[in-house]
Amino acid sequence: MQQIRARQIHLVNRPAGMPVHADFKLVTADLAPPQSGEVLVKNLYMSVDPYMRGRMRAVGVYAAPYALNQPMYGGAIGEVVVSNDSAFKAGDIVLNQGAWQDYLLAKATTLTHITPFDASRLSLYLGTLGMPGFTAYVGLLRFGEPKAGETVFVSAASGAVGANVCQIAKMLGCRVVGSVGSDAKADWLLQECGVDSAINYKTCGDLTAALAAAAPKGVDVYFENVGGEHLQAALNVMNPFGRIAACGMIASYNNALPSPGPNNLMLIVGKKIRINGFIVWDHEDMHADFLRTMTDWIQTGRIVSRETVVTGLENAVDAFLNLFTGNNFGKMVVKL
Ligand code: NDP
Repeated sequence: MQQIRARQIHLVNRPAGMPVHADFKLVTADLAPPQSGEVLVKNLYMSVDPYMRGRMRAVGVYAAPYALNQPMYGGAIGEVVVSNDSAFKAGDIVLNQGAWQDYLLAKATTLTHITPFDASRLSLYLGTLGMPGFTAYVGLLRFGEPKAGETVFVSAASGAVGANVCQIAKMLGCRVVGSVGSDAKADWLLQECGVDSAINYKTCGDLTAALAAAAPKGVDVYFENVGGEHLQAALNVMNPFGRIAACGMIASYNNALPSPGPNNLMLIVGKKIRINGFIVWDHEDMHADFLRTMTDWIQTGRIVSRETVVTGLENAVDAFLNLFTGNNFGKMVVKL
């Protein structure tokens, strides 16, 4: 086997606030041929996700921190080049944790076979058919528990998780209100995802007033992706016995110091609101059902997916940073 030279992105500084390019370094490394139980994978697409920001801190919130001067990692889709394990052969498509690397020497036990329903849409397995789509499914169904006729409010609603939450909630017969950071995203939610109302939180003025107008019967389920002002507005407008599926709070991920919290938390008591934090990987029991159901929804056109595809590992840092400025529209992936 010829020597493979991999390109990898390493974390070289722990960012304070918004990460900058100097916090990362593009490095090359020669990979040895796969030993017994190992597989050489050429990655085709890698994911950038907001949770990776937590891994850049010295102490992770719920995921282990990235080591400095080592390749970062995360979800990727690749093709097996050479296998030294009976479970894989050259040409197999695999989900792996080797994001931020174009070639990867992986233990076979860390790889998952993908049998794509459409070989031209492999990146879906990082988005709607991957971790973010599964997050939407788990969070809404297991923790939001929406019922037909109820109102569901979703923040970061056009994103990888949010757009799926909106569309599943519509299928369940709910009124859906999405909050996004641009008019183009709001239009897409209304026209393609079928939401009932879309708020541009950057231009709407008072968010509580905008949400109250968009949800005249109040909010029964809040799918929380953003935190801060969004959580405060949701609490103001929620109905008694409302549920909050606390998925993420991206507005705070780059804070160097803790920001002040919502000033209306007593409403949780008076309105008897249930708040469930959750992490997707604790809910593997729902995964087979999710994959079957979501594949069917995509194939029958009931779920639409939007992606922003950035090309080249050298542009992966920019792709990641764009998650925090809203310069992604749907799932952000990097084509390698
Ligand atoms: P997205 O595809 O939604 O991308 C992030 C979006 O967040 C941006 O496009 C932007 O959209 C919005 N955003 C960024 N900064 C702010 C801000 N300061 N205020 C308001 N909106 C902001 O990301 P994902 O769908 O992958 O992730 C969404 C959330 O889900 C994140 O909080 C993430 O951490 C969480 N998550 C949690 C998981 C779990 O297991 N609990 C698993 C996966 C994700 P806009 O232009 O609309 O502002």
